[in-house]
Amino acid sequence: MPPRPKPKTRRPRKEKPCPICTQGIEYIDYKDLSLIKPFLNERAKIKARRTTGACAKCQKQLSAAVKNAREMALIPYTTR
Ligand SMILES: [Zn+2]
Repeated sequence: MPPRPKPKTRRPRKEKPCPICTQGIEYIDYKDLSLIKPFLNERAKIKARRTTGACAKCQKQLSAAVKNAREMALIPYTTR
């Protein structure tokens, strides 16, 4: 009998405070790349909320800002 894989224990993740709300930012400007950049991975994709800890409101604004910034050629759509 092969050893049974251990059941994955799902420990409740400690809620990280939203990094944008904690900065007191209520509007994410697409031109503010220093604000947006930390939320992109090396392939210029928007990081998932579970990795950044951004709240729903901020993540939504962020994605809109990133898409806007892409259209304005401030950040790439993707990098190889
Ligand atoms: Zn937030």
